[in-house]
Amino acid sequence: MFEYAPAPESRSIVDIAPSYGLFIDGEFGEAKDTFKTINPATEEVLTEVALAGPEDVDRAVAAARRAFTSWSARPGSERAKYLFRIARIIQERSRELAVLESLDNGKPIKESRDVDLPLVAAHFFYYAGWADKLKYAGFGPEPRPLGVAGQVIPWNFPMLMLAWKIAPALATGNTVVLKPAETTPLSALFFADVCRQAELPPGVVNIVTGAGDTGRYLVEHPDVNKVAFTGSTEVGRQIARSVAGTGKKLTLELGGKAANIVFDDAPIDQAVEGIVNGIFFNQGHVCCAGSRLLVQESIADELLSSLKRRMATLRVGDPLDKNTDIGAINSRAQLDKIVELSEIGGQEGAERWSPPCELPDRGFWFAPTIFTGVTQAHRIAREEIFGPVLSVLTFRTPAEAIEKANNTPYGLSAGIWSEKGSQILAVADKLRAGVVWANTFNKFDPTSPFGGYKESGYGREGGRQGLEAYLA
Ligand code: NAD
Repeated sequence: MFEYAPAPESRSIVDIAPSYGLFIDGEFGEAKDTFKTINPATEEVLTEVALAGPEDVDRAVAAARRAFTSWSARPGSERAKYLFRIARIIQERSRELAVLESLDNGKPIKESRDVDLPLVAAHFFYYAGWADKLKYAGFGPEPRPLGVAGQVIPWNFPMLMLAWKIAPALATGNTVVLKPAETTPLSALFFADVCRQAELPPGVVNIVTGAGDTGRYLVEHPDVNKVAFTGSTEVGRQIARSVAGTGKKLTLELGGKAANIVFDDAPIDQAVEGIVNGIFFNQGHVCCAGSRLLVQESIADELLSSLKRRMATLRVGDPLDKNTDIGAINSRAQLDKIVELSEIGGQEGAERWSPPCELPDRGFWFAPTIFTGVTQAHRIAREEIFGPVLSVLTFRTPAEAIEKANNTPYGLSAGIWSEKGSQILAVADKLRAGVVWANTFNKFDPTSPFGGYKESGYGREGGRQGLEAYLA
């Protein structure tokens, strides 16, 4: 029977990993170099974080390799107990974690507190439940773990992406070296402290912080057996090339340009809520964001008026204010990309609109924006903006909606709004997207597999399929 220690009350966020060192073999330690992580809402430095070099990655992979022998040999029921403990500790410490996530990422606290963190705990609970049932799940009589998993994640959902990767890896008996994104390393280090508190055996989870080079050392490391990457399609392509022919198992969760399709029989108010949630949730820093609105021509004017009225009520500002709807853009570089693509949208002839909104003087901010009069030739209809910017196109027939929705190199998600179940099913069947939501958007659940077609990547995370990615 496990007993887990409650979080010491004296611990503040900045005490957790005093040097913000690397977490290797159960211990926090230093690296030769460091980098700064900043609060995107204020541009203030939050802290300095260790920058892992090749030798640090070597140490982390070696620790994971040593731990693999005994971790993979434990009965699934025992691995499950650790995962349940981690899930419960995350629930207990979720307020601290939510604040840390919003400080480092810029996302509104009501999202990190009410969406991200509950989902993080749910993933650990869900995969804990699988750990002792693998034999009976159709993976063959003796499903075997792969070994050391090298995992690289982006900055838009730092803790949730960590949970998507670490929970199934541990449930199946693999050990992990994870690299968080350089602009949001703090919650992964907090998670390392959760692992210590759960008394997870040393080396089962290792966290190496750093930028793209650290990620590259990790995925190219010869003693890594499985690579799991979530991030841009460009980096995903590089990783696919470097992993090719090495025998490493690879899953890639990449970009998206999802269509949110509204038919003329859809309930307008409900659809407007779905459109707002689809593109403005998490500042639009969402791989499956509904960044292209396809609206049936006959209701376009009515829908757009209603959408603009709703957008005028969105509150942009301090991520730590619980009334905030849209927080800060995660980094200067991301803001520059959003600004650039939006300017191109205007130059290409689309009409730009944002509600009046006062943005703070310091920090990285972008007002919620829609472009109307967009055609498929426009770059804002084709390229991932990864910000609070919606491109609006119209269609006349279901066939035209399907053609436009599929006219993208991506294939991660889509949404359909209609009162007719038959129409929803017929359209969903023809969409080349890993996830299709009907009369809702951005709904996630640990039991459902998630992943893309085409340039959105391959492999699935979540659900039973999420285990397959970590089994031989
Ligand atoms: P990114 O590709 O720039 O970085 C992602 C991670 O990869 C970071 O940790 C980064 O340090 C690391 N990295 C960079 N170069 C690397 C290399 N050569 N080798 C190994 N690692 C490297 O992406 P980003 O800007 O952090 O994230 C935004 C992108 O992620 C968007 O395109 C978005 O759609 C995508 N994303 C996809 C999903 C999904 O589930 N499909 C989820 C979230 C984000």
